[in-house]
Amino acid sequence: MNLRHQVSRPSQTKIIATLGPACENPEVLTRMLQAGVDIVRINSAHATIEDCHVLVSRVRELSAGLGTPVGILLDLAGPKLRLGQLVNDHVHCREDTIIRFVRGETAQNPDELVCSYPSFIDEVGPDDRILLADGTVSLLVEKVSKEAAYCRVIQPGVVRSRQGINVVGIKFRVRALTETDREFASWGAENDIDFLGLSFVRFPEEVRELKALLQSKRSDAQVIAKIEKAEALENLPEIIQAADAVMIARGDLGVETDIAQLAVVQKKIIRLCRQHCRPVVVATQMLDSMQQQVLPTRAEVADVANAIIDGADACMLSGETALGRHPVEAVTMMHRIALATEEFTSQQFEAAPCSYDGGEGEAITTATVEAAVHLAARIGARLIAAGTATGRTVLKISRHRLGVPVVGITDNPAALRRMCLYWGVIPLGGPKAPDPEGLLRFVVNWGKHAGFLASGDRVVVISGTGIHQAVQNLIIAHQVD
Ligand code: PEP
Repeated sequence: MNLRHQVSRPSQTKIIATLGPACENPEVLTRMLQAGVDIVRINSAHATIEDCHVLVSRVRELSAGLGTPVGILLDLAGPKLRLGQLVNDHVHCREDTIIRFVRGETAQNPDELVCSYPSFIDEVGPDDRILLADGTVSLLVEKVSKEAAYCRVIQPGVVRSRQGINVVGIKFRVRALTETDREFASWGAENDIDFLGLSFVRFPEEVRELKALLQSKRSDAQVIAKIEKAEALENLPEIIQAADAVMIARGDLGVETDIAQLAVVQKKIIRLCRQHCRPVVVATQMLDSMQQQVLPTRAEVADVANAIIDGADACMLSGETALGRHPVEAVTMMHRIALATEEFTSQQFEAAPCSYDGGEGEAITTATVEAAVHLAARIGARLIAAGTATGRTVLKISRHRLGVPVVGITDNPAALRRMCLYWGVIPLGGPKAPDPEGLLRFVVNWGKHAGFLASGDRVVVISGTGIHQAVQNLIIAHQVD
């Protein structure tokens, strides 16, 4: 029994929260999970493998204590240029002053910046525009010597150690999967991590390279391709097809491409992901002002709501939960916006059947799901459920945005956590391979107990006859006694 669902109605939109110092305290993290977090994200750019061990054990312990599955996303840093270690961990870039980039990974003076990429000073030149911290601070290179690049501060602000660096117009031709990423990915595969974020993807081959590494370690961790480069937009259908899920990483995307296009690009990516039956996450600055304030801006509320209306499966919190002053309030706010928006979208959303991928069995399962969805609408079902070994059947149901709970029942803990990403899905641990009647009994008992079903309500359950392994070809329509 899932205790969290008793204390608050889960939103259909999934919430991903980034871990960091702001939620280091297990009590804070517990409250965040209770407030509606479905997946936690560890950003490998700010963690060591030792840190990952500690965080993962903590999350698993809390998840077990709450009796609710929590997915873990390990976000690989990729070849992002980053600031190195700054003196006092930050530098205040004051307008129109000169700031120096020097060699090395650790700054020695309070007004110096250092970069994680050793050749940085050799590759930048006069008139290059350097954007720091997701473009919030900008510098113009005025001159470069052997030891330093001298930059004028155009857009002032505070930057912190390991924040990102983008140089407008320069293409640093490095592969998405770095050696460090491979180490983190191998660790993730060996430690049963559910999702791996692949940063700065440009080509589908890069996604396949990570999937091959995971397969070589017998891991079926899901790869989330982060769309944050202009080149990725050129290869979008192929990247989406190669990945298990997609993240619109608006922080870098808004720097690497024209920020004015961002909202339109977001809508296009979401639409394409829905066509390809891939879950899609909208990320970055969703409730950014809540890092400092207890209430978001009106524009941020509209941003979260619009992402949901567009069809996002999940919304992500970054600095809000990793560094901000109000991590629990940020999750609560996102959950409240989601509930308010879903009430509206349940009447608005059009079903978007997915195209088949996979073999014959996959086509039968997809068609069974489509038929079950029609049947559920026809009889006014209050709940639709499926027994699932991997979560795939439930992902297909989720695409239809039904507006009634979709329950994914499995005895596979990895599938349970994977379903934490699927819109509208309640992952539920159940008996191993029950016969269809046993599955129906389990669903009805659980539905009554959890307050989703009462006498006279109708349910639809999808299952397999067992004649063909891994094919879902049975639909049960039932009225609760
Ligand atoms: C982003 O750029 O929006 C993002 C989510 O990636 P990261 O946090 O790794 O910069």
